[in-house]
Amino acid sequence: MIISNYFNKNDNDTNNKLISYFNDLNNGIKLKRDDFLYILDNINDEVFSVLQSLAYQKRKLIYNDSVFIRGLIEISNYCKKDCYYCGIRKSNLTAHRYRYDKNKIYEIVTYAYQRGYRTIVMQGGEDDYYTKELLEEIIGKIRNDYPDVAITLSLGEKDYDTYQALFRAGANRYLLRHESASKKHYEKLHPSFMSFDNRMQCLNDLKKIGYQTGAGLMVGSPFQTNDDLVEDLLFLQEFQPQMIGIGPYLRHHATPFKDMSNGKLEHVLVMYALARLIVPHALLPSTTATSSLDKTGRLKALLSGCNVIMINLSDIDKRKSYTLYENKSYQGDESDEFIELIKKDIEQANMKIDFSIGNYRK
Ligand code: SF4
Repeated sequence: MIISNYFNKNDNDTNNKLISYFNDLNNGIKLKRDDFLYILDNINDEVFSVLQSLAYQKRKLIYNDSVFIRGLIEISNYCKKDCYYCGIRKSNLTAHRYRYDKNKIYEIVTYAYQRGYRTIVMQGGEDDYYTKELLEEIIGKIRNDYPDVAITLSLGEKDYDTYQALFRAGANRYLLRHESASKKHYEKLHPSFMSFDNRMQCLNDLKKIGYQTGAGLMVGSPFQTNDDLVEDLLFLQEFQPQMIGIGPYLRHHATPFKDMSNGKLEHVLVMYALARLIVPHALLPSTTATSSLDKTGRLKALLSGCNVIMINLSDIDKRKSYTLYENKSYQGDESDEFIELIKKDIEQANMKIDFSIGNYRK
């Protein structure tokens, strides 16, 4: 069980030691494995408020009050991979599959641009329908027609040449969650044909090519321990990704993990706040999974260092098919029709909605 002390009392010495670690991180001092483990083993809700406040202030110092809004297009729910936790894994024969052709993608991008979005995120399963050539064509046209838009891809593992070709075609950012930086844990979440080493290689390739690169992880995923989370924190500290996607594990009925417990909001918030201090300049989304877990998730995420929200622009019927986990908030929360609700959370966090390109600042 992770972060298991959260609702217990600590003595003063323990709290003081925790706060001194938070201050170290806030001052740019790198922590060691044992330090991170101490934090995760001992943090409780009382001392979390100190961490949360430091994370909020750090985000404000670098990005002011902006919450950057990204337009998300889920282009395909076909996937050749088989992650044990994912509702659109290839072995789920009950999933209703769809994919968008290039014209549909242009149509949504045009709509997004007219609505003011200046970052487009194209996300999908690993779907070989989208060849390198087709993606180059799609990205090239968007880049040509909308030169002031950032194009973010989240299309899984590809070879170096493909990543490079897509970058040259005009893509700027790439999200590829590592899911777990502990090889042993990664292998419990994925079938043996999926390679931890290749995933890490992909992240290195993306950064080397020049993408603003996003790593990320699930909190509370099956078999996860504090030691595993420490691996994630050490990895973030070392890799310094420009974007970090963190969300709770949420189960899906058509997966081998269907009976496992969901992750907990408190634990996700701890990881958001630590991520903000470890990688101060990161673009850190309040993820849809966090909003799906708890109605207060988005507001609390913004209060814990997050500064990005992705708004789903896919057609409503397709959103229902893109279910990586159950009870995804595809209608009432993070969709274009409900932007006013999102604005309320942003204002409550004393932040401002920002549709600009919102590049990584260093
Ligand atoms: S998590 Fe991603 S790679 Fe894994 S099965 Fe789902 S869509 Fe495919």
